[in-house]
Amino acid sequence: MCTSQAEWVTHSPEETKALAARLAARLCVGDVLTLEGDLGAGKTTFSQGLARGLGIADPIDSPTFTLIKEYHEGRIPLYHMDAYRLEGEPEELGWDEYFEGAGICLVEWASRIEHWLPEGRIAILIRRLDENSRHIQVRVPPEFGERLLKGLSVT
Ligand code: ADP
Ligand code: MG
Repeated sequence: MCTSQAEWVTHSPEETKALAARLAARLCVGDVLTLEGDLGAGKTTFSQGLARGLGIADPIDSPTFTLIKEYHEGRIPLYHMDAYRLEGEPEELGWDEYFEGAGICLVEWASRIEHWLPEGRIAILIRRLDENSRHIQVRVPPEFGERLLKGLSVT
C-alpha cells in the first residue's frame, strides 16, 4: 500500500499525549488506527491523549482483558481494541461491526488480526529512544495525508 508518513520525537508523556490529541482533532467516523510498540513504548499514553483530544473524560486504560472498550462521551465514539489476548477465531468478536461502525477504532496488537483490518488505516508506531524520549511514526494512505498529517506538530 502506498502511504504518506510523518514522524516526531517526543520528550515527555505529556508531549506524546499532546501529539495524539492534535491528531484526534482531525479524525473522522470510520478511521481505524493501529498502535504498535513494545511494552512501555507509550501506546496507552498515546491512547490517553487521543481520547482527551476527542473530549473523552473517562480514564483510558488498557483494554487487554476485555478486548474492546467503548467510549461514547466524546465528539465521536471511540472503540479501543486490544488483540493481545485473542483466542479463537477473530470473527466471533464481530470486529467488522466496529470497523464499519459509527466511531473511531484504535487497535493495539493489530498484527494479530491483520487480515481483518480494513485497508486505508492509520498506522502508528512508537519506539522508545531513552527514558523520556519516543520516536513516533504515523503512516496514512496518501489521500488522508492532507487531512491527517499536514502541519501536525507536537506542540
Ligand atoms: P505501553 O502501553 O506501550 O505499554 P505505556 O503508555 O503504558 O506503554 O507506558 C509508557 C511509559 O513511558 C509511561 O510510564 C510513561 O510515563 C513513560 N514515558 C516516558 N517518556 C514518554 C514519552 N515521551 N511518551 C510516552 N510515554 C513516555
Ligand atoms: Mg498499554
